[in-house]
Amino acid sequence: MLTVRQLSKTYLAQQQPAVSSIDFTLGEGEIMVIVGESGSGKTTLLRLIAGLEDPDEGEIWLHDEKVLGSAYNLIPGHASIKLLAQDFNLLPRHKVAENIAYYLRWYSAEAQQKRIEELLAWCKLSAVAHRYPAELSGGQQQRTALAVALADEPLLLLLDEPFSQLDTPTKRQLRTDTHQILKQAGIGALVVTHDIQDAFFLADKIGIMQQGNLLQVATPQEIYQQPATPYVAELFGNANCLLYNQLQPLLQYYDPHKAQQMAMVRYENLQIVDERLIATSTQQQLQPQLQHQHQNYAKAVVQSCRFLGSHYEVTVVLVATHALLILYSRKVFEEQAMVKVWLVEQKMVVSF
Ligand code: ADP
Ligand code: MG
Repeated sequence: MLTVRQLSKTYLAQQQPAVSSIDFTLGEGEIMVIVGESGSGKTTLLRLIAGLEDPDEGEIWLHDEKVLGSAYNLIPGHASIKLLAQDFNLLPRHKVAENIAYYLRWYSAEAQQKRIEELLAWCKLSAVAHRYPAELSGGQQQRTALAVALADEPLLLLLDEPFSQLDTPTKRQLRTDTHQILKQAGIGALVVTHDIQDAFFLADKIGIMQQGNLLQVATPQEIYQQPATPYVAELFGNANCLLYNQLQPLLQYYDPHKAQQMAMVRYENLQIVDERLIATSTQQQLQPQLQHQHQNYAKAVVQSCRFLGSHYEVTVVLVATHALLILYSRKVFEEQAMVKVWLVEQKMVVSF
C-alpha cells in the first residue's frame, strides 16, 4: 500500500541528514512501529510521508499515487494520510462530537450522525461527546484526536508518540484500544515511539532508526531474537553484548573465526544454578536441561543479585574468561557464591 524509496531530507543549516536513504513498504492494514531515540529523525519521516515536508531525494507512493510534498500542494498533506500530531490539534471551542463532525462536514447530516456515533463508540467517547477539549483528561483528548483522524476513513494513519504523555494504566488501555480500532477498521498505521513496550504491543513489524538511518525492519520476534547490530540489541534491553570469545565456555560449537566479533545473549536465555546443588544431586534429580547440556556449564561467581519483583537480576563473572553476564533467576543468590551458568539454547547467541 505504502512504498517509501530512498527517502532523504537534510534541513537547512544542518550538517547531518535528518532522514537518510529510507526504504520500506507497508501492507494494507499493517501496523509498523518506528523506534528510535530522540533526534533520530522519526518525526521528520512522518512529516515527509504526510506530505508536510519536501524530501531532497526519494519517493513516497500510496498505492499507485505519488505523495507530493508541501511545495506541490496548496493545502499540504494527502487526503488519505492522516498525521496525528503530539499536540492533538483539537478545535478548542468545539465539543468532542463537533470536532469529529468538522472533518465530516461535506457528508449529509444523517451520514455524519451515523459515523460520529460509530467513532464515539469505537473510541469510548460516548459519555464525553458533549464536553469541550479542555474538559477532557489526557487520555480522552488522545481518544478524541484518534476519532478525528479516523473520521474520513484514511488509508494510512501516522501517529507521533501517541501515548507519551499518559500515565501507565491509561496508556495500556489506550494502546489496547488503538490496536483494536486500527485492526477493526483495517487502517494501516505508522506509529513512532521510543517506548519498547508500545512497539511490541502494537507492531506487525518494527523499524529501528538511528541518526536518520533505518537500521532494521522486521517482526517484533525477529528484531528481538536476531537484532542486526549491537545497537538494536541493546535498544530492547536485556542484552549482554560482549566479544564472542568471552562466551566460549558456554558454547557447544565454538567458531574461532568469530573470536573478535561482537556477540549478544539475552538475560532470560541464561540459566544459573548453585554449584553445590550440582555436586550433591544425583543424575536423576537434575533438571532435564542440565543433563544434556552437561558439558556447557560455565563456572561463575555471583557479583550481585537484585530483587526486581517477579524475579532477581543476577550479575555473574565467568571464571574462565572474566566475562560479565547479567541473567534472570527466580531464586536469590548470595554475593561471591560459586555457580554454574548455561545457555537455555545454543542458538540464542547472536553474533554480529
Ligand atoms: P525525532 O522525532 O526522532 O526526535 P526529528 O525528526 O524531530 O527526530 O529530528 C531529526 C533531526 O533533525 C534532529 O537533529 C533535529 O534537530 C533536526 N530537525 C528537526 N526539525 C528541524 C527543523 N525544522 N529545522 C532544522 N532541523 C530540524
Ligand atoms: Mg519526534
